Amino acid sequence: MRCLHGRGRACPRCHGRPLDDVAYAHLLGLYLGDGHIVRCRNDVFQLSLFCGDAYPGLIEEAAAVMAGVMPASSVSRRRRRGCTEVKSYSTHWPCLFPQHGPGMKHTREIKLADWQPRYMFKNESADILALCGQGLDLLGVAWRYNNRNELSVARREAVELLDAHVGAKY
Ligand SMILES: [Zn+2]
Repeated sequence: MRCLHGRGRACPRCHGRPLDDVAYAHLLGLYLGDGHIVRCRNDVFQLSLFCGDAYPGLIEEAAAVMAGVMPASSVSRRRRRGCTEVKSYSTHWPCLFPQHGPGMKHTREIKLADWQPRYMFKNESADILALCGQGLDLLGVAWRYNNRNELSVARREAVELLDAHVGAKY
C-alpha cells in the first residue's frame, strides 16, 4: 500500500484544501491539552494525542477528528500505560499547528494565529450547554454540538459576530 504521509494536495494551508472547521477546532483543543508534534525522517511529522483510559470515548473522538482534519493520512493507536496514544503522520502538521516548536508547550509562547480563533464551550451539564446554545441563537451566532458535552462556534462569520459581542478572546 502506498503511504501518502500527507503528500499531494493534502494541506489546507499550502494547497487551499477545505478544512473541516469543527474537527479542527476540536483537534486544536486536544493538541493544546495533551498532544505533541515530533519531527521524524524526511520532513514527516507525527502528531500524537494521549488519551487517558478513564475516557474511552475520547480515543475514538481523537481518531475521528484527526482523520477529519488530515484525511490523506491514516490514524493509528498505540496502547501505553494508562493511556492510548492516537497518532498520525503528515508533512503538513506544523502548517496546521504553528504552535509547534522545540521544547515543552509550557516553556514557549503559545499564541493563536489569526486564522485559528474558534470558540468552544464545554460543560458536563446538558442544561447549561443548551442555555449556551440558546444564547448564541439569540445573537444569531451559528454553532453546533461537537459531542454531548461540547459545542463550538467555528465558521468565520460566526466567530467574528461573537467577537463583536464578547471581544476577542486573546
Ligand atoms: Zn502545509
